[in-house]
Amino acid sequence: MNKVMSSASLVLAVLLCATPTITHAYSSDSYMHEAAYKDSLNRAVGGKPEAPGYWVNNAQETLYNILKAERKVAEAKNVIMFLGDGWGVPTITLSRILKGQAVDNVTFGEEGQLHIDTFPNIGMSKTFCADAQIADSACSSTAYLRGVKANVGTLGVTSDVRLGNCNAQNVDTNRVSSILAWAQAAGKSTGIVTTTRITHASPAGTYAHSASREWESDVDVPLMYRDKCSDIAAQLILEEPGKNINVILGGGRQKFLPVDVTDSESTNGERKDRKNLVELWKSSKNSDVNATYIETLNQLLMVDATKTDYLLGLFSPDHMAYYHDQLGDQDPSLTDMTEKAIQILSKNPKGFFLFVEGGRIDQAHHNNQALRSIWEAVEFDRAIKKGDDMTSDDDTLIVVTADHSHAFSFAGYAARGSNITQIGIRLGNDLKPYSGMSYANGPGWQPFTSGGRHNIANDPIHNVTYQQVPLVPLVSETHGGEDVMIFSKGPHSHLLAGVHFQSYIPHAMGYASCLGSGLTFCSENQGNSANINGLSISAFLALITNLIVISIFMT
Ligand SMILES: [Zn+2]
Repeated sequence: MNKVMSSASLVLAVLLCATPTITHAYSSDSYMHEAAYKDSLNRAVGGKPEAPGYWVNNAQETLYNILKAERKVAEAKNVIMFLGDGWGVPTITLSRILKGQAVDNVTFGEEGQLHIDTFPNIGMSKTFCADAQIADSACSSTAYLRGVKANVGTLGVTSDVRLGNCNAQNVDTNRVSSILAWAQAAGKSTGIVTTTRITHASPAGTYAHSASREWESDVDVPLMYRDKCSDIAAQLILEEPGKNINVILGGGRQKFLPVDVTDSESTNGERKDRKNLVELWKSSKNSDVNATYIETLNQLLMVDATKTDYLLGLFSPDHMAYYHDQLGDQDPSLTDMTEKAIQILSKNPKGFFLFVEGGRIDQAHHNNQALRSIWEAVEFDRAIKKGDDMTSDDDTLIVVTADHSHAFSFAGYAARGSNITQIGIRLGNDLKPYSGMSYANGPGWQPFTSGGRHNIANDPIHNVTYQQVPLVPLVSETHGGEDVMIFSKGPHSHLLAGVHFQSYIPHAMGYASCLGSGLTFCSENQGNSANINGLSISAFLALITNLIVISIFMT
């Protein structure tokens, strides 16, 4: 073993001398932690591994904390669902290392901690959709927000609606309500926050019913359907439950403005129906409530949460900038938005439901930009910590999960403390280096030369804009089909431990917070019709399924 270790160290030392380019820190351009980031190879060579007592103490402390965290028996007054779009396990692990190295500045990186590492309950979600082995963000949002599996590309409708079938979208019994609507029905405040367009598939899963996730504004709907099927932005502003959402923060301003209206960033709207949905949103609010529309970080920071009932923030014409590229006073971070949303929503004594999406983890992966995606995941974890810090485990259920994974892997035998963009210390059989982070497919593909595979030795691999070189050329890298994680804490969070269909998640959240028409903690404890005591499983299922089928479609 020691011999193997010392051989590896020798190879590493040789590489250190021979390839000066790999001593670069991340070429993070503007990232605030760049100065704090220490060269990874120095860590690997100079860092001292922990003494055995460290691991023992850590394990005993973890055991103590888990034992101490008794199962909460109260109703979850608040529910916060954090959704990492495309946040698969390799992405999570790499974000832990990057955070350890570049933010927390621990010795190596791998021993660092994400906030989600502190969550007591871990489960797995089976993400396939009604008609597909591997999910997209629309059918999956229908599962994790509404409790039924749907077809690829469809939002808020049952699997009786095929992609693009406008007529089927409008059949009442094909429309499924979301946990956000259940929360509104119970008098709770509601909010949605994302880094993508607010009309994108994941956040739209909370409020829209659409046969196609693409129908974000009127011009996105095929002409033949425009007067029959309302677009997603219009549904958000003009229909329930969207128009009742208290806090709406994200990007996608163009979807809300007419073509002849120019926004604060000199971009024209795209709506041809001439509807100015921002103005319609403002005028829809009665004079006895405080409603504010904002477009910048500075405006967000100036919002007085104690006096705000409704907040609509559209910070970008399209998706918001990647965390790495955000400008000082234009773009709030996901953490900024989460903080303001909780400040506003937590005023309601009945509690709230908040959906927060780290939406661009997925988009950077689609572009084979691994480092950029991992930074998005680091920021996603920071927003989770903010939400957790602002609420109590006694009355707030926090659920963190992903819609699907990506065709992304983390492989090779890099030394402890290696920079995550580091090429492996071992060469491929073609005697060319390979990256530890790699994709099965995507747009970063490079054609073979007479010498074979593209040689990445001199590529700018530490830059966030660098595209890893995948195996198969594709215009957009694909999702991955393996199960994704569910991290949870707070009242009844143990219900989410184990391996579950993705469509189980809102049922468990509804139970914990006494929302929806299924079995709830409150109904179970008040002896009403959903009480399972004294019922056989088959009798219970017959009863509860009937109740849900009757009411789940009441949107
Ligand atoms: Zn995607």
